[in-house]
Formats: sequence, structure tokens, C-alpha cells
Amino acid sequence: MNAFKPMETNTQSIHEGIYDIIIAGAGCSGLSLLYSILNTSSLKDQKILVVDKSFEKANDRTWCFWEKEAGVFESLVCKSWDYISVHKNDFSTTLPTEPFSYKMIQGLDFYKHVMDYAKQFNNVYWQESTITSMETERLHQKNSLQSNAIVHWEEGMAKGHKVFSSILPIDDLYTMSQTIQTEPFLWQHFKGHLIEFENPVFDAHVARLMDFNVNQHGATGFMYVLPLNNKKALVEYTLFSKNLLKPDTYALEITNYLQKHYSDQAYTIVHEEIGAIPMTTQSLAKSSTPIYVIGTLGNAVKASTGYAFHFIQAQVQQIVKQLETGAQVQTEVHDSRHQFYDAVLLYILYHDLMEGSEIFKRIFEKNKAATIFKFLSNTSSIWEDIRIMRSLPTKIFLPAAIKVLFRRG
Ligand SMILES: Cc1cc2nc3c(=O)[nH]c(=O)nc-3n(C[C@H](O)[C@H](O)[C@H](O)COP(=O)(O)OP(=O)(O)OC[C@H]3O[C@@H](n4cnc5c(N)ncnc54)[C@H](O)[C@@H]3O)c2cc1C
Repeated sequence: MNAFKPMETNTQSIHEGIYDIIIAGAGCSGLSLLYSILNTSSLKDQKILVVDKSFEKANDRTWCFWEKEAGVFESLVCKSWDYISVHKNDFSTTLPTEPFSYKMIQGLDFYKHVMDYAKQFNNVYWQESTITSMETERLHQKNSLQSNAIVHWEEGMAKGHKVFSSILPIDDLYTMSQTIQTEPFLWQHFKGHLIEFENPVFDAHVARLMDFNVNQHGATGFMYVLPLNNKKALVEYTLFSKNLLKPDTYALEITNYLQKHYSDQAYTIVHEEIGAIPMTTQSLAKSSTPIYVIGTLGNAVKASTGYAFHFIQAQVQQIVKQLETGAQVQTEVHDSRHQFYDAVLLYILYHDLMEGSEIFKRIFEKNKAATIFKFLSNTSSIWEDIRIMRSLPTKIFLPAAIKVLFRRG
């Protein structure tokens, strides 16, 4: 099996003493935070405990994101593209991404890289257990009120001055998504097949970001095709909708798509990945000193797109700066202006006011990829925002914006 286990984990169940930091969940955000702390000279000697239900890591996901320069995990980038394409009916556009590159990192490469690095530090401890609860212990010391966090798992516990948690109660989220909320809740759900053809069929320079010429299932559906070379690609059927599909449906959509485009070509499925990412501007969880939420749990996912990797890195940098300076930890990464745009788009999709495929088509038809990437990374200027908005029909977006403003007010 393509899996990796990095180190001897702790066998004692009750940890003596207090950790400076407990990282609850060793996935993308927990390990990114660990890596960044260990690369910061004033923090690298902190006593850190990492708890995860399993350190047996598999290649369970690939992360894609856009970036201008080399990032912290540049050495792990297995493929990058300087062109993206979007398709809907007879509309088709291929856009240069300059000055950004669209990059891909394999999950397993990331887990292995961070865990191998952390193994060199004897101030990092590892506990393989399922966390069952966390609580705050208030301490009266002289004239001040201090607090520690206690993390409990099956038959064990540890105390920390600070806990960073990314353990997502996915069942609770499904319940939350199905009950009436003040803010719309959609899922970005998908299945991807890494496929390999016998003959060259792909243009390896172009990432097909959204091909809407697929079954929409009454929502916003598209195929995402990332060619690693001219024979091999990750092909993902993705839907933004209120409910998930039956497991077989995603695979059927991929098969139909490959049949439609490459009917006479033989291919094999090398690997599969599945995912369901919450799309909402509603807060999934709140930090409460000294327990801080990060990653998906910490609302790092961009509500209108499902992209999180880039925002998780921004969140980690923000936290590390706060730890270095002793400032109050604050994990919110999305500014209110861009969150408002996300809320308006989600409102329109949730209430079926305009087809998602038409919205994205118009945005990509009338703007440069770089402007769109900036907009979706929350780094666009007001003028760039206006340029994007002018691509969209005012008669739909203005009333929706007013509704969202009124609801939020
Ligand atoms: C298949 C897939 C593909 C994705 N692709 C992209 C992409 O291309 N670009 C992008 O920007 N985003 C992408 N995302 C979204 C997002 O970047 C990832 O979900 C990311 O891994 C979120 O990081 P996280 O740390 O919040 O959660 P995770 O990485 O899921 O980490 C959570 C960790 O907590 C552990 N855990 C959970 N419960 C417990 C418990 N009770 N006790 C102990 N440990 C526990 C888990 O074992 C896991 O290791 C993708 C998501 C998926 C699922």
C-alpha cells in the first residue's frame, strides 16, 4: 500500500507536565503549523505534542493552488501549469495564468516531508489516538487568571498552554448543512480518477479548470482535468450542491466524459480520491482561548470555491507571527469584504437564481486569469473587484447583495 508511518509514537497514555503547544490533527493545517513553528528560531524549542487518530498516511488528496513565487513547499510541487481553460457549450477559453502558476502537491509527499523533518526534533512528541474531547482549565495565579487546555483521547490525556485543533466533526457538519441556517451551506464534493492512457491525448501545458459540459445534476457541475503529462491526468467530477451524490455517480460521470472525449483510447485508473468540502460563510467553529481552530474547522476554506491550501498557509503564517510576538492568537483569514462577495455568490447558487456554470463562464470570458486569481485569493483591489462584478448581471447580483447585507446587518 502507498502509505507512510513516520516515527515511534507515544505509548504512555497520560502525559506528565504541560506542553507549550498541542496540535490536534496532523493533516494539512496541523502539519503546516508544526513545520512553520519548527522553522522559526524563537519557537522551534517549544515542547509540542501532535495527536492524530492515525499517522499511517496515504496519498488521500492532491492540493492545487496558485502562487506567484516559490512557496514554503515549492520542493514538493510535482506539476505546475501556466495556462488554464474553461469550457461551457461552444464557449472555450484558454488563459495564461501569468504572473501566477497553478501548482500541484501530492498529499503523501507533504505528510512525509513534514513528518521526516519533525522527527529530527526531540521536543516534538506524537500520540496516535482518537481525540474525544477538549476542555479549558482555568487557573487563578496571583492576580491573574490563566488557562490551560486539556485534550482527552480514549484512555489518555495531556495538558497544553495552547491547542490548535483541526479535527473536523464531519457528521455534525452534514447535520448542520441539512438544517436551516442563516447563511447558505453547500458542499463541494467530488471524485477524482488518476488515469493513464496508452497514447498521448492531453496537452500537458493546460489545466482544464472547469469544463461545464457535463451533467449538472440540478446544481453546478464540472470536470476538472489536470494533465501530469500527455498520457496521464487527474480527472475529477465536481459538484457544488446541497446534497452529495450516490458514490457510483461520480465515477459514471468520469467514464462518460472520457468516453465522449477519447472514445477509441484505452486507459487505466491508477489512483482515486474523494472529497466533500463545506462551502459556507457560516462559522464552523470558534476559537476560545487557549483552544484555537485551524484549517477547515478554523474556517480557512474559501466559501465560494472550496480552495483552502493557500488560506491554510496564510493562517499558519499569521499564527506563527502572533506566537513570536506574544500577541493574542487570532485565526480568521478571510477579510469581511471578500467574505461578503462569497456570501452573495453562495446565496445565488443556493437559491438557484442563476446557473453557476453561467456565472463562472462570464467571469472567465471577460477577465484575465490573474485578476480572477487575485479576487479569489482575497488580494484584489476594489477596482479589480468592480471589473469582475461588471462581468455579472446587476439585476441578479444587486438584489442578492442587498439580501445578504440585510441578513448580515
Ligand atoms: C480529496 C481532497 C482534495 C482537496 N484538494 C484541494 C485542492 O486542490 N486545493 C485546495 O486548496 N484545497 C483542497 N482540499 C481542501 C483542503 O485543502 C483539505 O481538506 C485540507 O486537507 C484541509 O486541512 P485540515 O488540516 O483542515 O484537515 P485535514 O487535512 O483533513 O486534517 C485533519 C486531521 O485531523 C485528524 N483527525 C480528525 N478527527 C480526529 C480525532 N477525533 N482525533 C484525532 N485526530 C483526528 C485526521 O486524521 C486528519 O489527519 C481538498 C480536500 C480533499 C478532501
